[in-house]
This record gives sequence, C-alpha cells and structure tokens, in this order.
Amino acid sequence: MSEYHNASTEDWLQWDKNHIWHPYSSMLNPAKMVPVVSAKGVRLTLADGSELIDGMSSWWSAIHGYNHPTLNTAATNQLNTMSHVMFGGITHPAAAALGKRLVDLTPAPLTKVFISDSGSVAVEVAIKMALQYWYSIGNQHKTRLLALRSGYHGDTFGAMATCDPVTGMHHLFNKVLPSHLFVESPQTAFGENASDDDMADITATLQEHHQELAAVIVEPIVQGAGGMRFYGGDYLKRLRALCDEYDVLLIHDEIATGFGRTGKLFACEHANISPDIMCVGKALTGGYLSLAATLCSDRIAEGICNGEAGVFMHGPTFMGNPLACSIANASIDLLLADDWQGNIQRIERILNQELACAAQLATVANVRCLGAIGVIELKDNVDMASIQARFIDKGVWMRPFGKLVYTMPPYIISDDDLRYLCQQIVVAVAEEE
Ligand SMILES: *Cc1c(COP(=O)(O)O)cnc(C)c1O
Repeated sequence: MSEYHNASTEDWLQWDKNHIWHPYSSMLNPAKMVPVVSAKGVRLTLADGSELIDGMSSWWSAIHGYNHPTLNTAATNQLNTMSHVMFGGITHPAAAALGKRLVDLTPAPLTKVFISDSGSVAVEVAIKMALQYWYSIGNQHKTRLLALRSGYHGDTFGAMATCDPVTGMHHLFNKVLPSHLFVESPQTAFGENASDDDMADITATLQEHHQELAAVIVEPIVQGAGGMRFYGGDYLKRLRALCDEYDVLLIHDEIATGFGRTGKLFACEHANISPDIMCVGKALTGGYLSLAATLCSDRIAEGICNGEAGVFMHGPTFMGNPLACSIANASIDLLLADDWQGNIQRIERILNQELACAAQLATVANVRCLGAIGVIELKDNVDMASIQARFIDKGVWMRPFGKLVYTMPPYIISDDDLRYLCQQIVVAVAEEE
C-alpha cells in the first residue's frame, strides 16, 4: 500500500488545495473544494457520507445521472474489447456507429463527422474547417469570424477568441488573440420573433464585412456560460438567411444545447434550419468521458478536400476514442429509447411551477425556464462561497456564477427531488441580500 492509499480526506484535500488547478481557480486564495467520493443517480456522495442532489449535471453532461447501469455496461464491454486505438489509418465499429447516429439525428445537410476529445477542440475544428474551406476554394480574404456578445465557445485560443470579449477577458491575451467581430446578442425572449433592433447590428456588420468573414458562430437558442440567455428561433432563421445572402458560413455550437436540453434534440430544430457546421459535446457521452464532434455539410468537406492540402489538417491523438464512442452510442440510445421529449416537458413544467414565485423577490431581476434549464437572474452578484455553503447545508449541489443561480438537472431527476431542489434555490436567492 502506498502512502496515497492511506491519506486521510484532510490530507489529500490539503494537497489538492496547494497543488491542483481547478476551473478558473486561484492558487493563492483557493476556494474550498467539496470532496465527492462517489455518485449514483442524481446524488453525489461526499467524503463524510452525506449526499447532495445534483442540480448541475456536471455542467450539462450527466443527462442520465451517475453510475448508470446501461452506460456502465457499455463502458465495461468496450474496456474488455479495446479501450483505445489510434484513428490514423485505423477505424473501429464504435466510431462508425457514433458517426452514423450523429448524421442520422442532426439536420440533413450535415453528413461528415470529425470526432474529437473536448468541446473546445470541436470548436477549434469548426473554425479550422471554415477557414480551410475558404482558403481551399481560392478565397484568401475570408479569415475572420463574427460572434455574439455574451457568447461562450470554450477556453482554447481559437474558441476563446469567439467568446464575449469582456467576460472572456480578451485584454489579457490581446497581442496573441485573433481579432474577430462581435455584435449585440438578440434581446427578445424565446418564443418571440426577432425585433428589427435584434437584427440591426448583425445585418449591418455582415453587410460591411462579409468579404472578410469566414463564418458566424452562435450558440443556438441558449447562450450558456456567457449569461444563460434564451432567444428565439426566428432570430436563427433570419441569421441563416443573412449568412446565405452574404455567403458567410454558419457554425452552430450545440455543445451545451444538444441532446434534448432545450426541449428539442438539437436547438436548431426550434428554427427548422441547419448550420453549415455543428459542434456537439458535453452530454454526448452522458457525462462519462470527454468526447465531442464537429459535423459539416458535403459542400464544406468537398471544398476543403479539393483544395491545396487535399486533406483536413487536424488529427488529435485520442481522436475517436473507442471507449468514449461506445458510451456515447449507449447514451444516445438510452435517450431515444424513452419519451425523452415528454420527460423534458415534465422537468420544464416543474421548474416553471417551483421557480416562478422567485420573480416576486426583492433580490431577483428575472426568472426564466426552457426545457430542462431553470435560471434565476439576481440584481446583484451572488457571494459564491456563502450561497454554495448554504446549498450544501440543504443537501443540493449548485454552482451559481455572477448574478445567475441556475440549474440544469439530470433528465432522470424525480418530481420530488426536482421540487426540493427548486425550493432550496428559491430559499437561497431570497436570503441573498
Ligand atoms: C462547455 C462549452 C464549450 C467547451 O467545451 P469543453 O468540453 O469545456 O472544452 C464550448 N461551447 C459551449 C457552448 C459550451 O457550453
């Protein structure tokens, strides 16, 4: 037995605190970490044996909850067959099966699939596809992207350059970050037609800059980490028409919205349109392993492959990882085996019922729910440490940021657990003064 096996919880937590980076964390003033030792269903078990109801689905991903027997079996079977094999010059059944599922489930023009290892990489791949497409067909001018304010597309450099410039702190990396164009995000709510105001900035920018624009990148319907904002399908429809008019490609980042979260399998279905390039990730493996994919149309693939390079210039070491692909296949099948849409409607109904009363609170600016997403926007920033401690005390796991206290629970959450979770959210925001 090594010393590590014997380390007490306090010891490894202390070591972690001194040496391990967590997402957006400080090494000098580290926040208190919650030690989770196991998880099952919608519950996380802490080192002291207590349990938390998970309101976050591990950042949109654990849609079937934790430790799911079907996904465990898929993982074990693949593990006993082949955990990984390189994808250069080799292929395997799990990747082919996943590619087929993704092509079948996404809108018709998306036919070609690049399987990568994380959401940010899927966005890098999407950007590279757009840039290499224009270069390959002989247009050297289309090298910039157009993105929405309040957007979030990942943390690697290419992806980061398309995130909201302010919340993404672009000034820290100004000298090395490509300079893209940003327009105001749509202000009209989900279910409403886009206003002329919504379209003004983006129309003018496309008109003026289309010759240098390779693509527009947006999170369809829900802007996630950049502000948990919802907007309508009409905006997407009109943006699709603008992209066609000005010959600019359209990239949909469905990494957060994909696999049912907004009430449609993919958020672009709210608008009945298709992007030229689509990114999926997060819930792809039901939260088991890091995996993502970028799909594109024949037009993009042909443009790239008829060009100078003759190939698409990307190929990560763990591309198409069999273990992750097998779990993704099982997760997609599990989702589709059920009346998943009815289930998301059930969650949406309860979120609406339980969270609506928060709108009356003095601390609350706005309450909005869509699909399996519930958001309470406060008037002021929350104190993360204190609100999180209160949530843990009540037996729920939430991770608010800024003015946003929001939940996107695992789809398997029961009515009772969901009502309890929502009630604790309302109590916590009422106490935020
Ligand atoms: C989380 C997220 C990403 C980045 O995915 P990672 O797997 O964290 O790299 C990109 N786009 C959107 C919309 C996301 O929500």
